[in-house]
Amino acid sequence: MNLGTISEVLRPRTLDQIDGWRDGYAWLAGGTWLFSEPQVDRDTLIDLDGLCWPALTVTEAGLEIAATCRIAELDDLTGPQEWSALPLKGDCARSLLASFKIWNAATVGGNICMSLPAGAMISLTTALEGVYTLWPREGEPREVAAVDFVTGDHANVLAPGELLRSITIPNAALAKRYVFRQQSLVKHGRSAALIIGTCGQDGSDFRLTVTAATPRPIQFVYDTVPTHAELRGDITRRLSEEDYFHDVNGSARYKQHLTYYFSEQIRMELS
Ligand SMILES: Cc1cc2nc3c(=O)[nH]c(=O)nc-3n(C[C@H](O)[C@H](O)[C@H](O)COP(=O)(O)OP(=O)(O)OC[C@H]3O[C@@H](n4cnc5c(N)ncnc54)[C@H](O)[C@@H]3O)c2cc1C
Repeated sequence: MNLGTISEVLRPRTLDQIDGWRDGYAWLAGGTWLFSEPQVDRDTLIDLDGLCWPALTVTEAGLEIAATCRIAELDDLTGPQEWSALPLKGDCARSLLASFKIWNAATVGGNICMSLPAGAMISLTTALEGVYTLWPREGEPREVAAVDFVTGDHANVLAPGELLRSITIPNAALAKRYVFRQQSLVKHGRSAALIIGTCGQDGSDFRLTVTAATPRPIQFVYDTVPTHAELRGDITRRLSEEDYFHDVNGSARYKQHLTYYFSEQIRMELS
């Protein structure tokens, strides 16, 4: 779509070329959302592409994903054999309501910063215990656990102008077993529930990450795989029916049902 209010597109090679921040500015990543609807409050786009951050870096600690990494690039990544949870990236990439064009243009960081309940890169990086590095316009970089980044539907902890720079996934999480469940009303539709369980090869450090069914990711953490009663009880205590996300992709009640149903399947498979 042509954005009639945009009068300037900046393409910095370094961030020093951008002075401060003001209302009307927006970071431009893949543009798949920015160009999909009018942006009446924006007059300037600042394209992140020219910063040329390396998309994917394997470090001693794990995997570093640049915010500007395309979802398709992440999907193509092959990693060490010990990274048994790596195929989860493909499951999550295929959970976006996305045409081929969107999938190839959209970035991991753009998906996270959109902070929609069905943001599958949020599901992926939260389940794999990711840490986000944020660059404020003023001051030192800061780190935020993926599970704490999204605060609600289309809301997150970013301050005005603050940039998501990268996502770090630790080796220990990449070496876990996982079980993935996703449901949408139509094939390739927007996720109504996307729920991931992970645990160590010995069954330790079990985590259940509930996304899409709730406005923000909710994670349940246990030393070992919990019993049916423990897990169901904890979900019930933490999430009442009003805490589920009601939208055209499903009622809160339906999403609550999916959460119980998939969580038990995941628990049994990882037991
Ligand atoms: C047909 C269609 C289907 C879609 N399906 C889904 C879906 O299933 N699930 C879903 O979550 N979304 C979906 N979207 C919305 C959107 O396309 C995706 O969320 C996509 O991943 C956004 O990534 P992008 O790189 O294109 O971001 P952009 O459109 O470039 O940016 C999105 C927002 O994030 C900000 N931003 C981008 N990068 C950064 C950064 N590094 N730091 C700070 N802010 C940043 C931008 O300023 C903007 O506000 C869909 C959109 C369309 C048109």
